[in-house]
Amino acid sequence: MAKQAKNNRNVAPFLLILALSIGLSCLVSGTSQYAGSASETGLRRVILFSLDSCNPEYFSAGYLPHLNEFIVSRGFKFKVANTILSSETQAGHTTMLTGAFPNSTGMFGNGLFFEDTGVDTGLVLDPAYRWVPTIFESLHVTNPGVTTAFVSGKWRLGPLLAEDADIVLTSPRSKIPIPRDYEALVGTPVTYMDGDLMDAWVFNALLQVIKKDDPNFVFVNLAQIDWVHHGTGAFNANMDRCLREVDALFASFFEEMRFMGKLDSTLFVFTADHGHDTIRDTFHINEFLEANNITAAMHVEGESAYLWLENIGQKATLLSLLNADPKVAFAIGREDYALYNLDAPRNRTGDVFISCNEGVLIANLPHMNPTMTGSHGGISARDVPMGWVGPACGITRIGYDYEHAVPHIADIVPTIYHLANWTVPATIDGSDLTSLITGPAT
Ligand SMILES: [Zn+2]
Repeated sequence: MAKQAKNNRNVAPFLLILALSIGLSCLVSGTSQYAGSASETGLRRVILFSLDSCNPEYFSAGYLPHLNEFIVSRGFKFKVANTILSSETQAGHTTMLTGAFPNSTGMFGNGLFFEDTGVDTGLVLDPAYRWVPTIFESLHVTNPGVTTAFVSGKWRLGPLLAEDADIVLTSPRSKIPIPRDYEALVGTPVTYMDGDLMDAWVFNALLQVIKKDDPNFVFVNLAQIDWVHHGTGAFNANMDRCLREVDALFASFFEEMRFMGKLDSTLFVFTADHGHDTIRDTFHINEFLEANNITAAMHVEGESAYLWLENIGQKATLLSLLNADPKVAFAIGREDYALYNLDAPRNRTGDVFISCNEGVLIANLPHMNPTMTGSHGGISARDVPMGWVGPACGITRIGYDYEHAVPHIADIVPTIYHLANWTVPATIDGSDLTSLITGPAT
């Protein structure tokens, strides 16, 4: 890809070709009825959308009809993909943007507990805790001509992951200022609960960055689904309205891209950092341990937790007690951690990992008993959507709801590197999906 894709403004000499190409485009797409820019050719940019907390079921005609139609009519959709454990925002996005599993990234949830010092970060913001480079950092070294942008509705992602992105547009709570030459274009972001931005602001920021600098790689976090589900849970009237709003924003964004002639020259990737559940029960872990005379340090991540046992001789008993509890999906000792890529130093991941069942939140405070809220972190929120659209890089197997393979969000970065012809860093764990998503049209 070229260093910087620019708008093709010099269209006057090509009016006839332009009119013909737009006419043809309208015939093919059946949508845009007005004249825009001439369509670019070749692959000019990659846009990776993370719909924070989006369940795979939402990528369907019933929930996100315009987005679903865009993917299945122009590209390839997996029925389901997987994220990491614990299925949380900071660790999920770290894997998504590095192409590496938690045992390589050092990120196992939103926060980290360090057994040697007893320090619990609660929320990891400092990139020094991360062991591998992001796509922004890698490209800076291997492909310095490639330009990047980071547009996030989540304030907490920028500090951890946006280092070395050329343009960062996010919430002021991140302490990352809006670049001066973008202030008038995007306005002062209004922050909502937890400092997350609404998706309308994010889509405008995305359009402005494409119009002004048109970077080769853009990461976009859409926080609205996450914001709504944490308040009221999954699959309800609030979520239905939220999804319709997000879907309308996608529809107008695609139309704007078509008008600018940039739709076919973009590789679009759509996924999520984790899914979400409606909380209907609580697993009081302190009471459980006390009742069984077990002492352990713990770090809780929503529906999951890591335990450091004071007496390691109690591990087998603890595992059998946990695995017999109807609220627990599974509990494993660190000898089985490699199953979920949690095999990292004990100081970060402990002796025992627990995932509760769908909708069961792990509580380590006596008064915690939430109901009708949303949460994630466990195995049931590991399922996420994944879709790829990019005719310019050979994604021609359209119309799939592919169920014969379950890709991992760690596969996204290596696949992007391959399709964009960028240099793949040595820190990648994920697989290249190119052979699955390209091929003969059906
Ligand atoms: Zn999230």
